[in-house]
Amino acid sequence: MMKRMTITLGILLAFVAGALAHCGSCGVGGSSDKTGHGHMHKLMEHAGQNTEMAAESYPLDRCPISGEKLGEMGEPYEMSLDGVTVKLCCDGCEEKAIQRKDEVKGKIREALFARDAADYPLETCANCRMKIDPDSAKKEVYGSTLVLLCGSMCEKAFAEKGEQMANRVREARAAAE
Ligand SMILES: [Zn+2]
Ligand SMILES: [Zn+2]
Repeated sequence: MMKRMTITLGILLAFVAGALAHCGSCGVGGSSDKTGHGHMHKLMEHAGQNTEMAAESYPLDRCPISGEKLGEMGEPYEMSLDGVTVKLCCDGCEEKAIQRKDEVKGKIREALFARDAADYPLETCANCRMKIDPDSAKKEVYGSTLVLLCGSMCEKAFAEKGEQMANRVREARAAAE
């Protein structure tokens, strides 16, 4: 009897481990696409299953400079533009990314808004805590976290306190789980 239960548990654990391993292959690194799943499919999967993960994971599957699919030229090159995480196909694209900073940040911001606005965890400005309407709120990004703010005064404060504001969003998302 004991033995049979142990075997059943073993099979169950193997199944769970398999599921986790599959999930891990779709994770933040996202460099390998050998599983045959498209990146969109992966993002959709995670958006449904794990909102915290979706909020923190990088939103683009292509280099914003070359348009190359990330991972096809090896491990993506990761950099930060004013606190915003950017992934490029190679370090050769870094200079252009810096030159076209506003355009690159804008692409990431819009992709994050399209993905995360619907289940954004706060109803208030991440800085002053005034009530906001997500559709007209100011959008900012820190790391790969969308931060919504009430207006241009709080947007100015974001330059200095972006990390703090993003942490407020992350904590609210974790608490909502
Ligand atoms: Zn490149
Ligand atoms: Zn505010």
